[in-house]
Amino acid sequence: MTVLAPAVPSQSAPSRQVAATVAGATVVLPCPLWCTHPHNEEYRALPDVSHHSDELTLSVPVHGGVDSTLVTRISCWPFADEAATAVPFVSCNPVGDEFAQLTPEAATALADQVIAHGYAMRAVARSISG
Ligand SMILES: [Zn+2]
Repeated sequence: MTVLAPAVPSQSAPSRQVAATVAGATVVLPCPLWCTHPHNEEYRALPDVSHHSDELTLSVPVHGGVDSTLVTRISCWPFADEAATAVPFVSCNPVGDEFAQLTPEAATALADQVIAHGYAMRAVARSISG
């Protein structure tokens, strides 16, 4: 049986339709164009359905190798009871811990800090280069 999921007003971004299995039934869901999640798992209920973009990862050198930090992606649980997760937000994991949930404004402010940090790092490197 295929069921059309209820419209989600907060998902006004362009989307496509994807089929997912929710509680044993095939459900056709709107899926935002930024979502790259395959939706091939079986969801227990509609609130478990989530959309995720590809991750952006900054790899940095560490003693003995390379580590990933500042892992960022867009996420959304469109049928969640919690309003903050029912709309797309930026998930940011700067230190390999829990993801922080950032508004677009907070993510932009963090990006500005990272850019400023990059310029400062460049200045430090130039200060000791020949
Ligand atoms: Zn999706």
